[in-house]
Amino acid sequence: MSQSPRYTIEEVVDCPRLPTLPQVAIEVLELTSDTNVGMSDISKVVQKDPALSARVLKTINSSFYGLSSPCGSIDRAMAYLGMNTVKSLVLGFSLIESFNGVGQSFDLSSVWRRALFSATSAKIIGDSLPEIDSDEAFTIGLFQDIGAIAMLVTMKDAYEAALAGVPHTDHPIAERDQFRFNHAQVGSVLAEKWKLPESIVQCIRWHHDPERASSKFVAQARLAHLSMMCAEALREDSQPEDMRAVLKQSRQWFGAGVPRSGAFEEIAAQAPVLGKFFGQRISGVPDPRELLERAQDQSIEHQLEMEREKSEIQEAATRDGLTGASNRKKFDTEIVRWFHAWQDTKNPLAVLFFDADRFKSVNDTHGHAAGDAVLVELSRVAREAVGDLGEVFRYGGEEFAVILPNCGKGDAETVAERIRAGIEANIVDVSGIDCEPDTLNVTVSVGVSATDCGDSERLVSPDKLVQEADRGVYVAKEGGRNAVRVWGHLRNADDVADAATAIGECAGGAAKTPSSDNLVIWLVEDDALAAVLLRTMLQNRRGVTVEWFRTFDGLARAAAETLMGSRPPPDAVLSDHELDGGTGLQLLTMIKNSNATSHVPVVICTASNAKGLKEEYRSGGANDFVTKEAIAREMNKWVGRIVELATQARVKSTAA
Ligand code: GH3
Ligand code: MG
Ligand code: MG
Repeated sequence: MSQSPRYTIEEVVDCPRLPTLPQVAIEVLELTSDTNVGMSDISKVVQKDPALSARVLKTINSSFYGLSSPCGSIDRAMAYLGMNTVKSLVLGFSLIESFNGVGQSFDLSSVWRRALFSATSAKIIGDSLPEIDSDEAFTIGLFQDIGAIAMLVTMKDAYEAALAGVPHTDHPIAERDQFRFNHAQVGSVLAEKWKLPESIVQCIRWHHDPERASSKFVAQARLAHLSMMCAEALREDSQPEDMRAVLKQSRQWFGAGVPRSGAFEEIAAQAPVLGKFFGQRISGVPDPRELLERAQDQSIEHQLEMEREKSEIQEAATRDGLTGASNRKKFDTEIVRWFHAWQDTKNPLAVLFFDADRFKSVNDTHGHAAGDAVLVELSRVAREAVGDLGEVFRYGGEEFAVILPNCGKGDAETVAERIRAGIEANIVDVSGIDCEPDTLNVTVSVGVSATDCGDSERLVSPDKLVQEADRGVYVAKEGGRNAVRVWGHLRNADDVADAATAIGECAGGAAKTPSSDNLVIWLVEDDALAAVLLRTMLQNRRGVTVEWFRTFDGLARAAAETLMGSRPPPDAVLSDHELDGGTGLQLLTMIKNSNATSHVPVVICTASNAKGLKEEYRSGGANDFVTKEAIAREMNKWVGRIVELATQARVKSTAA
């Protein structure tokens, strides 16, 4: 690539070869931005330049504006057509006049042609768009490539060389590659320097990329882009694709019926009229009817319909058919996306799971159709409760998940409670379904996890956050259902005690009484939460006492006392695998190798799922091996199993 002389945008717009706007234009701009100024003040300024006034009047009386009776003065023109029409013409003429001088040494005819077609198209299309000021659109059409002229004037051959053979739509890319800025940027800086209104500055800046204009100006910027495409489609050597592109884009942005029928014929006829007043001869205008016919060989409607269908299919692929919530597949991608966003930005992220309580009985009692109706309602109420704070997903069956980006623990808990209470209060109408009664209501258990719950180091992957929320559901279920549990929160001592009490209350009612009294179970566990939960549940069985050891050392001391006969052996040991100071395997060997304790059942409970670990424990004599996840899932079952093992061992040793 040839080395271009290095210019900055500032050097381009401050280039002494670049003309300034005539005084009249500057004054008109100043006056029109002042709301206290009347039309007569403006017409006085314009009339100070008789040649300019004459040109404005001539143009206004031409077929371009299609007035029914001629208009003899600038004042009348403003009364008929409004201040903006006059302003747009004053600016336009000033522009062309200023640049006429520089045009001597450059061929600007293609730039002017494009400007005149853009301005004409913007005015004619804009006239039928209520949200658009079509006179301003006209000015933008004329000015949008002013940056290209400025670049040409300053950088001359380098600019021409950089763009040789490049179609206009790709100019910004080629310009950026070569000069690090493009004509839209230069144009907008120039417009700012000339104190043109913000709307014009923005539309010049974004006429190649209108979606990036600030929302206030997007419609006007889109029209600027569309008018540029029209100018392209009405080039002497334009192709049917150019016209097709215009039709498609305008329908997408402005709906069917835009541009109205006959608009292209009008543009093709009026641009040369305007050109005459601007001193530009425009020839070789293609016949728009023929272009349209060729463009419509493949109907635009058909193309748009296909695109609509495609996006509908894409949309359906991420939605759950029954409930309308987003589906599991989408959850899996979204959770990863937001997890990474949290890692990057440290904006909090919360996940919430909720599961219908005793939903099986809804199906069993009222039928599957009623169950389905309830699921639809759960999803609806949840989506209402979440609003635009996040997204609701059907995770599977009667379990839903919610992702709450930028929400911390507090907000998530509020949303969770809103969902729980909303569902509890909601009466589902199933009168359309053949079942009794006609209304139902259900409750849900909600688990919450958030990045600002406790130590964020624990969150090694998105799965961790998901698991925590899911575990919160289990804790809520164990606690009696229809409740919210914030998982990370449970790690605080108070909450551990609360949760343990809640679980105790719930489990107490369901517990079976063991046949032997005063069972002693050693619990070896360093995770306080797991230990308190297990201890509470175990001790809830009548007659069970739990001795909790947090470290291997503490336990070794107790074991030694047992061996020396100063302490009775326990009825069972429930131990973690990884302990501070040793492993469950060492403990197992110790217990099984001593006559005093070899009869004591040992159950290992671990979060590790290392391969072969279970076999190792089994061959070492462990009576059971269970993951913490399984215990969490079926706490009552496992607690029952441990107590049962202890009872059996007691019965056996008493009999011996
Ligand atoms: P818990 O409070 O412990 O969650 O009890 P539960 O009965 O809700 O839980 P369980 O997992 O035992 O039962 C879930 C039931 O949800 C079983 C399944 O048939 C039903 N289910 C899952 N998906 C659908 C569905 O799409 N429609 C209907 N009608 N039922 C469903
Ligand atoms: Mg359920
Ligand atoms: Mg379930």
